[in-house]
Amino acid sequence: MTNEYQLRVLPEVAAQQERLKRFLADEYGLRINEITSVRILKKSIDARQRTIFVNLKVRVYVNELPTDDEYQHTDYPDVSDRPQVIVVGAGPGGLFAALRLIELGLRPIVLERGKNVHERKTDLANIARTQQVDPESNYCFGEGGAGAYSDGKLYTRSKKRGNIDKILNVFCQHGASTSILVDAHPHIGTDRLPKVIEAMRNTIIKCGGEVHFQTKMTRLIISAENRVMGVEAVNNSQPSTFNSQFLGPVILATGHSARDVYRYLAEAKVEMEAKGIAVGVRLEHPSTLIDQIQYHRKEGRGQWLPAAEYSFVTQADGRGVYSFCMCPGGFVIPAATGPEQLVVNGMSPANRGTQWSNSGMVVETRPEDVEGDDVLKMLRFQEQLERDAWQQGNMKQTAPSQRMADFVNNRLSYDLPKSSYAPGLISSPLHFWLPKFVSKRLQEGFKAFGRQAHGFLTNEAVMIAVETRTSSPVRILRDQATLQHVRMQGLFPCGEGAGYAGGIVSAGVDGERCAEMCAEYMGVVGC
Ligand SMILES: Cc1cc2nc3c(=O)[nH]c(=O)nc-3n(C[C@H](O)[C@H](O)[C@H](O)COP(=O)(O)OP(=O)(O)OC[C@H]3O[C@@H](n4cnc5c(N)ncnc54)[C@H](O)[C@@H]3O)c2cc1C
Repeated sequence: MTNEYQLRVLPEVAAQQERLKRFLADEYGLRINEITSVRILKKSIDARQRTIFVNLKVRVYVNELPTDDEYQHTDYPDVSDRPQVIVVGAGPGGLFAALRLIELGLRPIVLERGKNVHERKTDLANIARTQQVDPESNYCFGEGGAGAYSDGKLYTRSKKRGNIDKILNVFCQHGASTSILVDAHPHIGTDRLPKVIEAMRNTIIKCGGEVHFQTKMTRLIISAENRVMGVEAVNNSQPSTFNSQFLGPVILATGHSARDVYRYLAEAKVEMEAKGIAVGVRLEHPSTLIDQIQYHRKEGRGQWLPAAEYSFVTQADGRGVYSFCMCPGGFVIPAATGPEQLVVNGMSPANRGTQWSNSGMVVETRPEDVEGDDVLKMLRFQEQLERDAWQQGNMKQTAPSQRMADFVNNRLSYDLPKSSYAPGLISSPLHFWLPKFVSKRLQEGFKAFGRQAHGFLTNEAVMIAVETRTSSPVRILRDQATLQHVRMQGLFPCGEGAGYAGGIVSAGVDGERCAEMCAEYMGVVGC
């Protein structure tokens, strides 16, 4: 017999099967020795009051063992002899597009400018060691895209639950913990993501698809009728080799940091528009302080609760100021993709166990806030901010930083707290050199957040500049129904770089949709 129940229990009960069984036995008159298993179906933490509860939906197995799978399995057929589709970029958008193409009976040829997910690690470690960024292998470029060495938070504001569940189930099929199907705020962790991504690549290859690393698309092959026939690409490991051609319709999932791709598209007169972004800093607190504030208790998270999260949003002078991509128990990382750039981001391991918690603290910036009227103006604005930060950081990856309360009071910080940011921090008057329309609003925002959460506005927190890669500065225009470029048939702009996603899950969902529309374009609907 199985039964499902909604429970509200203390964290220590939620975390231990035996205590959960006892709770169920007491509450519902079950015999504890007949409860063979308790499967958690949904889990969320309610930390609004002094006593913290965990809300659970559970399935209880009485005198029988679970036989159903914990996740939904997708079948991937052999597509070796099927028509091919070129997928540019092996981030979540490209990888989910490739897997969906296989499901639909098409053969994906994935081109990725960076290295495979494991080789990439060395280049990431080198950033702190040498203060140099490899422009083809970094936190944004390489297998898994910007999602690989990210936090792996898998929540999204998107409302289409079916599409989201599919993405989460595919992750589970490739080795992610099934807890992501259960948690209200699912999270894989930067230490676990590479294995999952590698398994996704292996599925693509096993089914007859191809994955080419260090292979950078340089241009689209466009017919006289404005139809995209394929791409030209260069091998990054042997730059002197001739461009190779890869023929087929193109799913372009190159992410928000491929500025050379945007520049090429602008030059090739592929219709795009400038898009609003959000810019600001990473803010890092000691994680114990965030735990104390969010869990309203001196002892912080204790043994049974995870590192606490927060989310803040306010309006300052007509623009949104908000926390973004919060990483409890995480690290701040250098996310530049080229020389003379300094840009930071955040990530956390599966256990969220570091002594710091960080988030982007950003100000909404609309195209009308920035001078100029061309399609790349927001990209140039990002570039300028990143160059300013690099110069303030002594032309290295050491990040210009300021204590939070000092910033609000327009004071230089004479010293800085210990930080997770490996290349190092350097004290800098961010209130002085950040654009006024950003710094003034951040100051207002911080004051508001300090009022909402006592202790949040503190000199124990440090601002690390700059955070600019919050979303794409450009939107590549596509037809709403077919998802093809508005003017070019056979080109499917996809994911975050095209301006249609803002995170791992939404990029994955968009990748799947582009694959479906591409299948329809190729006349293989209903496979
Ligand atoms: C440090 C960090 C932490 C993050 N944390 C989270 C998080 O916790 N949760 C979340 O939802 N989102 C997070 N994000 C954002 C998330 O990673 C992106 O939204 C997501 O990866 C976008 O997917 P995408 O496939 O559209 O693009 P990307 O992931 O950017 O992938 C694009 C790929 O295209 C490749 N490429 C670019 N140009 C070319 C070319 N010319 N030829 C061939 N290949 C090319 C790139 O190398 C890259 O691999 C984080 C991002 C960063 C940087």
